[in-house]
Amino acid sequence: MSLVPTHMVESVYWLIPERLKDHGVRLVLADLDNTLTPYEEALPSSALRAWKEELEQNGVTLFVVSNSRKSRRCPDFCEALGVSYVRHAGKPGTRGFREALAKTGVPAESALMVGDQIFTDIWGANRAGITSVLVKPISWGKNPFRRVRYAIETPFRLLSMHRSFPYGP
Ligand SMILES: [Mg+2]
Repeated sequence: MSLVPTHMVESVYWLIPERLKDHGVRLVLADLDNTLTPYEEALPSSALRAWKEELEQNGVTLFVVSNSRKSRRCPDFCEALGVSYVRHAGKPGTRGFREALAKTGVPAESALMVGDQIFTDIWGANRAGITSVLVKPISWGKNPFRRVRYAIETPFRLLSMHRSFPYGP
């Protein structure tokens, strides 16, 4: 079922770079807002920078696939973190995912997508044939719609719950 995440964890930091490498993952595609960083943060945290470095040391590329409509948000953040990106990705369409795979030359089977939203990140990745990992949104912020959407997504979270997670510690 294309709305059910392949895996579900607390945050991106549950993806252990060495485990990813062991399982043949060479590319981690990631949503930006509320997955890698809170909406209100303009720059990457030190934890995120460290995780990205560790991914690189294990031969895994981090690549942002974002729907962000703010003009400089995605480019500024990604340049500060030192990662490539596709913005206006049109998730849950598959165009952004295909573009990211083409740019990196990594086949879908060797990629993962991590994101906080079922109806964009997870649905799009599943349609593109990419293993999908759902994380909890980092913060609720001031937008009440985020809580409503989270509630609507609940059945799909439940369907994913029993699945074991091969990339953890
Ligand atoms: Mg998001």
